[in-house]
Amino acid sequence: MSDPTRLGAKLWGWLDADHPDPLATAPKVDGWLAGMLGLPELTRTPPSPLDPAKVRETRLTAEMVAALEAAVGGGVSLDPAVRAHRTVGQSYPDQLERRAGKVRDVVDAVAFPENAVEAGRLLDAAGQHGFRVTPAGGGTSVVGGFDAPRDKRPLVVADTTHLARVEIAAADGTVTAGAGVRLDRLDEVLSHSNVTIGHYPQSFHGATVGGAIAANGSGQRSDLYGRIADRLVSARMATPSGLWSTEAFREASAGPWLGGLVAGSEGLFGILTDATLRLQAAPEHVEDRAWLAPSFEAGLRAARDLAQAGHGLAMMRVSDEAETAFLTGFRLARAGADVPPLLERTLLLVKRAPRRPALVIAGYEGSNQGTGRAFAQATAALRKAGATSLGSRPGASWRKSRYDLPHLRESLMARGLGVDTFETAASWSKLPALHAAVRAAITDAVGGTLEGTGHAAVLCHAGHAYPEGACLYFTAIFPRADDALEQWRAIKKAATQAIVANGGALSHHHGLGADHAPWVKDEKGAIGVALLTALARTLDPRRIMSVGASRALDD
Ligand SMILES: Cc1cc2nc3c(=O)[nH]c(=O)nc-3n(C[C@H](O)[C@H](O)[C@H](O)COP(=O)(O)OP(=O)(O)OC[C@H]3O[C@@H](n4cnc5c(N)ncnc54)[C@H](O)[C@@H]3O)c2cc1C
Repeated sequence: MSDPTRLGAKLWGWLDADHPDPLATAPKVDGWLAGMLGLPELTRTPPSPLDPAKVRETRLTAEMVAALEAAVGGGVSLDPAVRAHRTVGQSYPDQLERRAGKVRDVVDAVAFPENAVEAGRLLDAAGQHGFRVTPAGGGTSVVGGFDAPRDKRPLVVADTTHLARVEIAAADGTVTAGAGVRLDRLDEVLSHSNVTIGHYPQSFHGATVGGAIAANGSGQRSDLYGRIADRLVSARMATPSGLWSTEAFREASAGPWLGGLVAGSEGLFGILTDATLRLQAAPEHVEDRAWLAPSFEAGLRAARDLAQAGHGLAMMRVSDEAETAFLTGFRLARAGADVPPLLERTLLLVKRAPRRPALVIAGYEGSNQGTGRAFAQATAALRKAGATSLGSRPGASWRKSRYDLPHLRESLMARGLGVDTFETAASWSKLPALHAAVRAAITDAVGGTLEGTGHAAVLCHAGHAYPEGACLYFTAIFPRADDALEQWRAIKKAATQAIVANGGALSHHHGLGADHAPWVKDEKGAIGVALLTALARTLDPRRIMSVGASRALDD
């Protein structure tokens, strides 16, 4: 069974509460952040520890616990710290609860099925004894994946981390992995056979295979590897109506591909127990290079031209002017400097770098020979857009720190600030207006929640480029109001309304969850929601499955 002490600790930190505050050794950052947000200074707001004695008692009867224990081989935990940890994910409201040490509606038990049959038995027991079930992988959902509608029935989390089988089928170029295998662990196992699935979300060290598929995620190198659904061949799911194996071979034309319904299902239909995914040879060479484009729009044009021409890059990421300025300022403040070193300034002058630039990072993964061609193509498109090359060094430093930002989130929250991300995707022609509208909506909404001084910093980058469009990823950093939850609701509402009104997708890769449910009809239409509801009710007529996305279904 998972170690309750570690799980309890994880309540307050990103993956590991013992991770040192990255800003502790950078005293200049506080003043810089305060200045940037229009504040006289930052306030210290450390998290409060959770008191396990205050966690509500389990509502499961002895008979229910016995039924659960009979169903699963990996054990059942009633430990308050384990139950509190598995009640919340990593959304901003979750984060507020965790930091306040007050997790509400703590789940009644955490059960650890070890295979598909046990997951099925767990759901049978739920049907017979009248409790609900939430599947949980890494718990890194940022969209309220665990914020299910309230119900009088007890709630049991099906923790997938014991579904840990990994089997490579070299001849087929596939791997079958248990839903609970963490992405970094899978990558490590695959690296011994020199293959990869290429799924590198920023939550790589926390998210699981099942969670990535369930939330229909997309990794940082998706321009090469596609999103996780693109790699999905088949899957098995324990549903309240029985064990469902999707088509064994993905490329089949007898009717719609039903396997695709698993991607993005977020626990609505059952517990995904394992999946077969396409493998790709591990890259011989990995490199990231940086440019400064004269504007965000110029960078976007280059990204569009490359995506439409077809290119050998794994990633192309264009930060807007605000994000570029933030990254530069933060880098300098962290190093204790006010201005860039003389050498850097001189180089930028000589290269005639733009004054309010947009940082572009292009990443390559592949054969040694392909490197030159991919970067030559990127260079041509970026030169046409008026961009200045910065070479490999900034690219390497981006690569080195690409999984660090979540740790920074904890540091900012501990300094009286709020930080959340909002992502969407749209066709190229809509991106400039969408970018402006979401930025303005977040800025205004934050302004409306602050009585005194201060304002938001709204940063954005474009990535995950397709021939028809791309993803926009916004980060908002803002002074936290007294009623932080209400403040967030106002910001989230304003940002999402701006997204929907400007033709953006409700989410490109974070998923649906409770947080996006109020807008689901705007994207899928009434018929789409009716279809989703019919599927959920067919597989789960007794409404056993209990997840945030359930809020999107018709009653
Ligand atoms: C700091 C940070 C960075 C992130 N970066 C990215 C990113 O770059 N790309 C990206 O795509 N996402 C990203 N995310 C979002 C999140 O990590 C992904 O959605 C991830 O795929 C979720 O995996 P998980 O195992 O943590 O799932 P969980 O959070 O445990 O679950 C997510 C949802 O799926 C359901 N679920 C989980 N496992 C199963 C299963 N086996 N069967 C059925 N339902 C299941 C849960 O009930 C829940 O509703 C980020 C999150 C954080 C906190």
